Amino acid sequence: MLQDQTTALKGLMNFLKNSPTCFHAVDQLRGMLEEAGFAKLPESQRWTLQPGGKYYTVRNGSSVIAFRIGSALEQPGFTVTASHSDSPCFKIKENAEINVRGHYMQLNTEGYGGMICSTWLDRPLSVAGRVLVRETAEDGKEKLVTKLIDFDRDLVMIPNVAIHMNRKINDGFTFNKQIDMIPLFGGADVEKGEFRAMVVEQAGVKPEDVLGSDLYLYNRMAPTVWGAHNEYISSGKLDDLECAYGTLLGFLKGSNEKSIQVYACFDNEEVGSGTKQGADSTFLQDVLYRIVRGLGMDDEDYRCIQARSFMLSCDNAHAVHPNHPEKTDVANCTYMNEGIVIKSHAGQKYTSDAVSVAVFRGICEKAGVPVQFFANRSDEAGGSTLGNIAMAHVSMNTVDLGLAQLAMHSAYETAGVKDLGYLAEASAAFYSTHLVPDEAGVLRLEA
Ligand code: ZN
Repeated sequence: MLQDQTTALKGLMNFLKNSPTCFHAVDQLRGMLEEAGFAKLPESQRWTLQPGGKYYTVRNGSSVIAFRIGSALEQPGFTVTASHSDSPCFKIKENAEINVRGHYMQLNTEGYGGMICSTWLDRPLSVAGRVLVRETAEDGKEKLVTKLIDFDRDLVMIPNVAIHMNRKINDGFTFNKQIDMIPLFGGADVEKGEFRAMVVEQAGVKPEDVLGSDLYLYNRMAPTVWGAHNEYISSGKLDDLECAYGTLLGFLKGSNEKSIQVYACFDNEEVGSGTKQGADSTFLQDVLYRIVRGLGMDDEDYRCIQARSFMLSCDNAHAVHPNHPEKTDVANCTYMNEGIVIKSHAGQKYTSDAVSVAVFRGICEKAGVPVQFFANRSDEAGGSTLGNIAMAHVSMNTVDLGLAQLAMHSAYETAGVKDLGYLAEASAAFYSTHLVPDEAGVLRLEA
């Protein structure tokens, strides 16, 4: 492995370890942007922007958009990458505690997104998320502040039923999320209200000042690199934090003075993106429009810039499964460590088409990064992602891509160690490219 590949991989493992929830992930992305000199723009205030400036804005603490304005804009377009910050997991309900016969205390949860339930059983889990706290400012006025909390210890477990009590467990099992997926929190001496007291303690405030919370279970198993040649990385949340991290590395490395480079990471992809901070919101459109207006340009300029724009919609892809190669298309199937996956779908659930594939292939050639092609089996529905959803709000040429992985939506997924570097290199090359459209809307690459 190359030296900078090793550094990138270590950075990813650290990022994954410190991202128990989407709020923590976005907080870390924000930290990396701040460190690189990006200035924060609150959405609620007027933006004053300068050519050559670097900025970012956060919505809901769980989606982030950063942008860098070229210092010599010349027929600019937006070069955008988009990924997602959320992963399937279990959310703790407001009234969390369930007492079982006076001997057990459980935490009441509901599913977030489409997880593989069995992977959450019989492993140490912990709790993390955000808490909304009332604070009194120096001027005596009350305000609400967000605190991120993470218990960062083995705290709960979802135990399996013994095989002696369920002899058919290995013949396929239907998991009922209200019965089978409820985690055990403690024994007979756990009192009602103890969980909330622990949350209050983590937040470091008075009980009456905690007014709201979004708390989730997460897998405690740390990321690891393994395999005969150390060729695999496993962790929770590789979908899609691997892309969120890889494209940020590219964004911080590549730039072009003629264009406007945009990095986006959205929440709520796993539940359909239809929230104020999801890809189906106006967040991207709002930011792009404000960039144009903030630079003193008008609506007509906005349309022209949008028509010169290009997006990489980045969300992980399926590798051929070693035990089930028949699950993937016979020829349009992909493998870990063999390059960036370009995803196509005739029904356009994936946005890739001849134009966007040609442009992206040119960029990857320039960067010396291998690509491979994925299409669903024609008799399977397959997944969807955020690219085509975002396009309903801000339409531009888009290619859907990802990194090949196994066990998508497991609590512990597997990917290839080389592919992160490929994504970082390809996105750096993308951000360094100026795209010039012809009259038919086909984009040409310029350095
Ligand atoms: Zn995903």
